[in-house]
Amino acid sequence: MASLLSRLLRRDPSRPMSCAEVGELLQEYLDDVLDDARAARLAAHLEECRRCGLEADTYRRIKQSLAERRGGHDAVPDNAIARLREFGEQLARGEHPHEH
Ligand SMILES: [Zn+2]
Repeated sequence: MASLLSRLLRRDPSRPMSCAEVGELLQEYLDDVLDDARAARLAAHLEECRRCGLEADTYRRIKQSLAERRGGHDAVPDNAIARLREFGEQLARGEHPHEH
């Protein structure tokens, strides 16, 4: 398993970003802390991959509602964050249902 994971997660700027990498880096990307090279590859993947694009939209909405409710007591449901985390872990295990 370790070899499969390291193969999935290997950073290679010359090939398209995989769903596994997107799952791993999506939060950094949307937090605007990802380096430009990987951010560009991730953005390109989101354009082509509907499932990752939808997850990115979901996470954006979570972030937005967090920002809107900052200081408030009505936090984003934990299960929204947990679901996103699970998505990333699923992808890291290579369980994504689509291939390009
Ligand atoms: Zn994808």
